Amino acid sequence: MTRQEILHARRERLFPAELHYYGEPLVIARASGASVFDIDGNEYIDFFGGILVISVGHCNAEVNARIKRQLDTLAHTSTLFATQPPVELAAKVARLSPGGKLGKCFFSNSGTEANEMAVLAARAATGAQDVVALRYGYHGRTGLAMSMSGQSTWRVGTQPSPGFAFAHNAYCYRCPYGLEYPACDVRCAKDVEDVIRTQTSGRPAAFIAEPIQGTSGFITPPKEYFARVAEIVRRRGGLFIADEVQTAWGRTGTWFGIEHWDVEPDIITSAKGMGNGFPVAMTAVRGDIAASVPRMTISTFGGSPLAAEAANAVIDYVEKHDLPAHAAREGAYLRERLDRLKARFPLIGDVRGMGLMQALELVKDPNSKEPAIEETAKVMDLGRARGILLGKGGLDGNVLRLAPPLTITRAEIDEFLVRLESAFAATR
Ligand code: PMP
Repeated sequence: MTRQEILHARRERLFPAELHYYGEPLVIARASGASVFDIDGNEYIDFFGGILVISVGHCNAEVNARIKRQLDTLAHTSTLFATQPPVELAAKVARLSPGGKLGKCFFSNSGTEANEMAVLAARAATGAQDVVALRYGYHGRTGLAMSMSGQSTWRVGTQPSPGFAFAHNAYCYRCPYGLEYPACDVRCAKDVEDVIRTQTSGRPAAFIAEPIQGTSGFITPPKEYFARVAEIVRRRGGLFIADEVQTAWGRTGTWFGIEHWDVEPDIITSAKGMGNGFPVAMTAVRGDIAASVPRMTISTFGGSPLAAEAANAVIDYVEKHDLPAHAAREGAYLRERLDRLKARFPLIGDVRGMGLMQALELVKDPNSKEPAIEETAKVMDLGRARGILLGKGGLDGNVLRLAPPLTITRAEIDEFLVRLESAFAATR
């Protein structure tokens, strides 16, 4: 099919039909490593990896060979029968999890399902119902997951389920209290206590948060934040769920993003980069939590030998090539260059993130911090014309999100930076 035919058929046959990125829709035909090719053969350096999914490079040959082998051996049995790949995967997760304590896994197909299971497990384990989430958070697209997401954009069309309350997030660039870190003494952490006391029964089942808030533009809390919040929640009998759908598997420079905060969650959820494009997700919990989950729960596709083997192959690849260390090193290099870019372009109000998960928040004026919404779209279009793909985020759509495959080379980063700088220069 031609570009026009695909776009026409998409409008006719898919819903919702709108594409959120670019004035002129991009039609992608193939990809390899950090490169994506459109239907006309133009090449782009992919700095968004299909929303942080492409962790070990597009069409990674080693990973794909294992998926193909599994596909030809045993693709599906349902969870009615035992197979080897999911038990191997759960053992890897237990070994890599912070403190090695998350010894039990429930596998499913998406981040949304993983979070649904996390809330179910926390409610079953604590006997409590209330869940505290964060403003600006995103946890998925089912009714329950939308109800725990703190962004109106992603809550449309459904009556939110009861049982969720929202605390202020640790958005230092736009501090909800107008304070400055570290003089603020992380005031926002205390809001979790206020919310528990004023908007819940006082006995929460859980607190759920992304270590780095993804869709809202890689909002990165200060280093004290999660230990303080976890202490508040645990003191009142609740569990700490880390939604690592975006931040796990080396992305931030450690296996799990939460490791940067020196606290061990009771439950970790993940998906996205876990399968490098293969749909696979997990809810990893402590043994005692798993024991309280109702026995009659099933996911037909979840934890299939095929999906589990895809994740096994990705994790083995990340481990073999020590990609968390690579992400830390190359992420630090990228960050240093982005900070320099900020010094040159007042349009860049904030640079934040960790490892190969970095964001630029664009503002019309560094003092007013008015979101630069049209300019963000313009930089994305100008970047596309220069052969780079960027992600967008933020409540106002004024944050550029950078998350290349963890296999990205220094040469590719340098080439990306030249093109990004040129895109910013052209917005003036
Ligand atoms: N949690 C987070 C932090 C996410 O970023 C997303 C997806 N953007 C989800 C959950 C939902 O994942 P999925 O789209 O795979 O259901």
